[in-house]
Amino acid sequence: MTPMHELHDIHPVTMREPITFHCTQCSECCRNIRDSVMLAPYDAFRLTRHLRRDHAEITIEDVLMQYCEPKPLSRGYVIYVLKTVDDSGVCGFLKDGKCSIYAARPRTCRLYPFSVGPGVVDSYMAWYLCTERKEHFNSGTTTAREWKYKSLPREEEDAILAEFRCIAQMGKLLRRIPETVIEHATLQSMLFAYAYYDLDEPFLPQYLRNMKELMQQLQRLA
Ligand code: SF4
Ligand code: SF4
Repeated sequence: MTPMHELHDIHPVTMREPITFHCTQCSECCRNIRDSVMLAPYDAFRLTRHLRRDHAEITIEDVLMQYCEPKPLSRGYVIYVLKTVDDSGVCGFLKDGKCSIYAARPRTCRLYPFSVGPGVVDSYMAWYLCTERKEHFNSGTTTAREWKYKSLPREEEDAILAEFRCIAQMGKLLRRIPETVIEHATLQSMLFAYAYYDLDEPFLPQYLRNMKELMQQLQRLA
């Protein structure tokens, strides 16, 4: 997959534009993921719930520490990306050529070769196509619309749209935070976005509550 700092192979697409694409399940896109598979807060929540089936005591913090690494994206704003096996670039969840967490794979994986970003209005997301790999664009047809219905449950779509709105707001506040307290603000942002959840409760109401509390804290610091 394309690392986040090399986005020249990412192109906007319309929802109904036909795309020649067929996945042969070769798993090549899982073998070169360094810095490219982001775990959004919803992904971390879903993955922890999934892993809890075999590890009853596992927490979101455990998952972030064991399987992910933090990546600063802008001043005060840090996301998590999946770790690779040693320095090989291979995803640690790839086992015998298959994704071992398929039902709970992160958004980046379930949408690939598509991806999404904030749209021009809050209730829409913009869709993009990654053209870094040529081999899977030789046969078959799909559209972003079809991919969306196939890959994004409604609950996840709502979580993504909420996340885009909150990140924009958080970014504005973080830019105003004085240097003396930026480390504290960064830590608070990571904890509220990723960690403060009850895994037995639905994600979105908790995320919205956390973000509201975070914005109040950032406003006090700004
Ligand atoms: S999306 Fe492409 S690279 Fe990934 S498994 Fe399918 S064919 Fe292989
Ligand atoms: S989480 Fe699964 S789908 Fe995503 S890169 Fe790893 S093995 Fe591939």
